[in-house]
Amino acid sequence: MVQIVPLKAFADNYIWLLQHGNQAIAVDPGQAEPVLQYLAAHQLILTAIWLTHAHADHIGGVSALTQAYPQCHVYGDHSWNGVNTAVAEGSQLNCFDHSVRIWHIPGHTADHLAYLLTNSRQLLRVFCGDTLFSAGCGRVFTGTMAQLYHSLQRLDTLPASTWLYPAHEYTAANLRFAQTVEPDNLAIKYALHKAGSLPTLPVTIAHERLVNPFLRLQQPQVKAAVINHGLSAEAVNQPLAVLSCLREWKNHF
Ligand SMILES: [Zn+2]
Repeated sequence: MVQIVPLKAFADNYIWLLQHGNQAIAVDPGQAEPVLQYLAAHQLILTAIWLTHAHADHIGGVSALTQAYPQCHVYGDHSWNGVNTAVAEGSQLNCFDHSVRIWHIPGHTADHLAYLLTNSRQLLRVFCGDTLFSAGCGRVFTGTMAQLYHSLQRLDTLPASTWLYPAHEYTAANLRFAQTVEPDNLAIKYALHKAGSLPTLPVTIAHERLVNPFLRLQQPQVKAAVINHGLSAEAVNQPLAVLSCLREWKNHF
């Protein structure tokens, strides 16, 4: 049985820590201290680090962690600092007794990766970094809006019961935006009511389909909201245009 716990880092990052027996894996350790403290307190050995992308708040702790645990495999794109085991779209690796698949899900950055962990019951747990947040998605930095759209569509193909483990606690702020887009959406209202008790993560894809405007591009109230926000009546039938409008709107919300 793999146990997964969120370690708080910076103001609103989560470093997801997977543990099994006396071994542990850290996902996106932007800081080393919370990981080192947890490992010491629970007498664990760090065997791997999974990186979703190379932003400092995701990789900042890697060098201190590999100094403390020199045998540790650091997975990620070959071009990122500290990676010693390169992975890319389609790569497979083992996590304890489970298998992990890698997806390339660009948009937030051009080289963003996701780690899909499957257990013996085929339940998926997806470490999706800064691509999809609860009720929101990452900003577009080095990727493109079209890449982000395709990556979110791809995540939306996962089974409803899939658990998502994003790297930030942005849920309450995202839900306030989602509620502005869809004021009549009761699932958003209820989620906002519950968002004060932290962590709000992980979340299921089924939940995101109800509350995340970036996965609800065809919903009439979402379309009406982006038209109100200046999108043309023709463009509103192009999901990519709706997504771009929502993302720009959220950037200034
Ligand atoms: Zn990032």
